[in-house]
Amino acid sequence: MFSFHKNLFHPVLLQHKQDFFEKRFMHNNLSILFLSVYLTIEQMYYCLYVREPGSFIQKVHFFTAIIMLFYAIVSIYIQMKRPLCTSWLHKIYEISFGFYGFLIAIIRGLLIPNNVFPLPTIYIAVLYGFAVIFCFHPVKSFFVYGLTSAILIVAFPIFQPTIIQNSYIQDILSNNIISWIASIINYEKYVKEFINQKIINQNNEELKEKTLQIEKMNEKLKAISIKDGLTNIYNRRKLDEILECEYNRAKRYCREFSIILLDLDWFKSVNDTYGHNVGDKVLIETCKILKNNIRNSDMVGRWGGEEFLIICPDTTMQQALHMAERLRKAIETYKFSVVNKRTGSFGVATYKNRDTIESLINRADKGLYKAKENGRNRVEITE
Ligand code: GH3
Ligand code: MG
Ligand code: MG
Repeated sequence: MFSFHKNLFHPVLLQHKQDFFEKRFMHNNLSILFLSVYLTIEQMYYCLYVREPGSFIQKVHFFTAIIMLFYAIVSIYIQMKRPLCTSWLHKIYEISFGFYGFLIAIIRGLLIPNNVFPLPTIYIAVLYGFAVIFCFHPVKSFFVYGLTSAILIVAFPIFQPTIIQNSYIQDILSNNIISWIASIINYEKYVKEFINQKIINQNNEELKEKTLQIEKMNEKLKAISIKDGLTNIYNRRKLDEILECEYNRAKRYCREFSIILLDLDWFKSVNDTYGHNVGDKVLIETCKILKNNIRNSDMVGRWGGEEFLIICPDTTMQQALHMAERLRKAIETYKFSVVNKRTGSFGVATYKNRDTIESLINRADKGLYKAKENGRNRVEITE
């Protein structure tokens, strides 16, 4: 009872009030659908086969069957259409069905003498059925129980004076109160389930959102971890990874690949003359030149300060030399924004059978050293 009070004003319930009303209404509508179909058949059966032709009770059955048929049609229509919002018309529709159920029970109880129990069994069935099958707010169900018990208390002695017993008022009241409590418990269970489901849904949504954020963050971190902060090309770590991958591929499948090591000439003087910022700009512009002059399958990265490495898969020495020469010319002819003209020296090496990654890089480094020795702005190899 106390948790019911808490649940009734639960913030989640208040937040999803409309949704709750709609769900509860559809729940009741489904109950109306099953009950009205059953009652249409049952009432018609009583009317045609059980009651005396022309009697008042037969007419009541017939009338009830028609009313139930109407409810059946409406409930099927509602079940198919699913209203977007519930209005007062919907509320009258559901509560009137419950009330009418009681009325049938009362009429049958009043008109058909029952010598064993003062309260008709159908009335008892409707009392508890209403509590369990439907889901109504306690105030609403109190109204239905109160009204029906009042009708019965007043009408019973008039219609059944012979079988009236002293305890009939207590019987009516106690049955009504117990079934009202059952209806409150049923309603509370429904509210609790709704709240729990909403909380689970909310948590799932939050979890999904957080997972998405983490995935995005991971992608960003991954991108950052393989790129050089200044030039936005691969960093040394990624170059090492690619080198190992290419090396293993070449070894396993007996394929060729080449590397080109580039070092900008007299770069220290750029920093000394124009400052570090201009030096940085030269590095960025050099990257652009390199990227614009290599194939899609080639990979370029920053090897160290003003040194760059280009890894060329499936490339022979001849092809690599050709490409290095093209890059050298591209740098030589490029007009840098502040420093105007710069040059670079190149060392080229191609993977050989007994190479390790270190020996391959060593050869490219030696080629580069040779290029510097021989006057810079050139491409060299060593045996
Ligand atoms: P060489 O032709 O022999 O290669 O001469 P160099 O001046 O280019 O050679 P050195 O190795 O003496 O100088 C490289 C310079 O590159 C020194 C260093 O200050 C500079 N450098 C390294 N990293 C960066 C960077 O990120 N930004 C800038 N602006 N300069 C850098
Ligand atoms: Mg250097
Ligand atoms: Mg240099």
